[in-house]
Parts: sequence; structure tokens; C-alpha cells
Amino acid sequence: MFIITERQYGIIMKQAQDCYPAETGGFLGGHDNKILGVLPIPNKNPGDQTTQFALTGDDIELAYRFLVKHKLEYLGVYHTHPRGVPYPSPQDLAHNQKYLFIVGLRDRRSPELYAWRVENKQVFAEDIKIISDFGATVIDIHTGQPKLTENSAKEAADKLAQDIDTMIAGKMPNYPKLEPGDWDASSFSTFA
Ligand SMILES: [Zn+2]
Repeated sequence: MFIITERQYGIIMKQAQDCYPAETGGFLGGHDNKILGVLPIPNKNPGDQTTQFALTGDDIELAYRFLVKHKLEYLGVYHTHPRGVPYPSPQDLAHNQKYLFIVGLRDRRSPELYAWRVENKQVFAEDIKIISDFGATVIDIHTGQPKLTENSAKEAADKLAQDIDTMIAGKMPNYPKLEPGDWDASSFSTFA
């Protein structure tokens, strides 16, 4: 099970809706099952961004610095499926990530955040519990004010470096093309 605060959940949901119908995403950091840091990343896919979310090496470097600065362990990448089910695609699974966080926007007005644990190519649903901002330590990525008191163990830092290496070695995500939805295009705002 993962725990996320209302504020961070709100950051992800707003990003998902603002970027619709393009895919978007970012990095999650934390300790154990607590999501304590959210780093939204603009979609770098030079092609059709409604079918694919892409991260660059610079994004991974940025995420690495973000996680180290705030003494967070790497938990995983989140990304949206604007018109698809929030289940990992074969391309998502090709990244060999332990966890995949996917926002489903079948109903744009009520996005759903799903966490998936991948073990031996098998996919298991992980519960996500949203708690009030008073229930956990929160980093405000907009003001850059961390409120963490914990220190990462060396093992945690090593694991992060390993995870990042794995991510660099992975291929960019690629998602199946789906039918356009009925959302009013005039309300789009591009994430940049
Ligand atoms: Zn996906």
C-alpha cells in the first residue's frame, strides 16, 4: 500500500487534467510506502503526445538531484493514460520498474490514480491511501521548502542510483493510440 497526501495527489491530478489529451507524468520519491515528493515532468515526446509520454536523460538527472536534495528514495515514475485504462501497457512493463503509477482519465473529470507492483512480469494492484496534509511530511515542490527530518541511509541512496540506472537503460514509453474523447478543446493548457 502507498500513502499520498491530499496536496500531492492534487498536484498529480491537476497536471493530468491540464495536459489532457496529451500524456504527462513525472517522478515520485519517498520513504517506504510514503510518497513525500512529486516532481512533474513535461512530456518530451517530439511526436504525438496523446499517445506517448517521453522522458529525457536531462529529466532523469533532474529527478536524481531532486531526490538527493530532499533525501528521498526513488519510488517510481507516474504517467497518464488520457483515454486508456490505467493498467500498464507492454511498453510500460518493458521498463523493468518495481512500481508503475498510472493516472487513468477515461472520465477526465474524475481521474483515477493506480499503483502497480511488478514482479517477474506479473502485475499486482497496490492500494493507495490519500491522507490529509497533516498526516505526513510534505515537500512543496513549488516553494522548494522541504519539511523532512529523516536522513536517507547509504543503502537507500545506492538503491536510488541503481533504479535510475535501470531507468536510463529502459526504452521510452510508447502507448497505443486511442479514439479522441469529447472534452472541449478550448480548455486545454499545455504543460511546459
Ligand atoms: Zn502507460
